[in-house]
Amino acid sequence: MWKALKFCIVAAVILVFAWWVASLPGVFSADIGSYRIDSSAPVALLLLLLLVAILVMLVRVLGGLRRAPGRVAGWRGARRQRAGEVALQRGLVAVAAGDGSGARAAAVKARAALGDTGFVQWLQAEAARLSGQAEPARLAYEKLTRSAEMKFLGHQGLLRESLKAGRLEEAAQQAAAAEAAYPGGSWTREQRLALAVREQNYSAALRLSQSPQARAALAVAASEQAQTPKLALDFAKQAVKADPGSPVALARLAVTLRAMGKERAARKTLQKGWQAAPHRLLAAAWLEPGATALEQAQDAARLAAANPGHVESELFLGQTALAAQLTGEAKRHAEAALKAGNEDGRAAAILAALENRPAPPVRPAWRCTSCQTQSESWYCACPSCGQIGSFMDNASGKAVIKL
Ligand SMILES: [Zn+2]
Repeated sequence: MWKALKFCIVAAVILVFAWWVASLPGVFSADIGSYRIDSSAPVALLLLLLLVAILVMLVRVLGGLRRAPGRVAGWRGARRQRAGEVALQRGLVAVAAGDGSGARAAAVKARAALGDTGFVQWLQAEAARLSGQAEPARLAYEKLTRSAEMKFLGHQGLLRESLKAGRLEEAAQQAAAAEAAYPGGSWTREQRLALAVREQNYSAALRLSQSPQARAALAVAASEQAQTPKLALDFAKQAVKADPGSPVALARLAVTLRAMGKERAARKTLQKGWQAAPHRLLAAAWLEPGATALEQAQDAARLAAANPGHVESELFLGQTALAAQLTGEAKRHAEAALKAGNEDGRAAAILAALENRPAPPVRPAWRCTSCQTQSESWYCACPSCGQIGSFMDNASGKAVIKL
């Protein structure tokens, strides 16, 4: 509606202007050399307007011609930029797909179009890495570390290459440089943590760990390698604080308390742990190494009293009775353990020993919750999958105590 109205108004203005021009009175005369031009005023006015229009068009054409070389260069630059971006995108996809030759071809095209930018350098490095060219990859990553924006990726690549080659010291340096280039990154922290565990530097690993189970496992490992009994006790306390239900942490705390001469506190810790959830590690820490088998059997009853009837209490009593050659007691407790649901072979092993039969297979005590690897020994980090704090008991539950 508005458009139609606008058209009508414009048409009316043009008509009025044309009518006004046509009705102009007077004559226009001009002498140019030996020529004389005579015309009516309306025609002269129209010719003047036409001349002005031609002049304006001429000026525009000349300006366009003057700017043409710059425009052509700009158009070519934009085309090259687009080609470079497409090459980078294809290179990224090739890297994600693990296609080394595809990534290398894309890197060559991207470099030709965009020059030696940080992104292109990264693509070259990744292409070399995927193609198994370690030295060109290392050189490309090193070059990338000199880029203000991309140096983290350079250190990341060098760290991966060092780990792959087993150069742990160099890997630690690259991890520190990566942390400096991009502080607080979770990827770098995980790498530094894995590196510290690989170097068995558990106190450093503990500072980098966040999960409670991993912290408890690392604190136990740090306590085991501590230089002084006091430091060992401090780490053991950290382990129990991180995961109060961990039998490994509780047993470690009892051992370190005993090493500091705090026998009562050690026994109290084990009794509390046993009351909440009995575990074979707590039982092992309870027994005094210098005591006779009979003394140990009598002592076992004091711990078992904290959770009478529990399958682990019956097993503890049965095993210590067997060692002390209290055959009747051993049989009674082994049968009670079987009745209480023991199915990992420990109760059957007591009965087999009493009857001079070959011992049946006993299920390994520990299991990795990440890769399901079973083991007789507890590990801070799973030897199969490397997961920290993933080793859990293969049979019983957890103890929870408050310190
Ligand atoms: Zn595992």
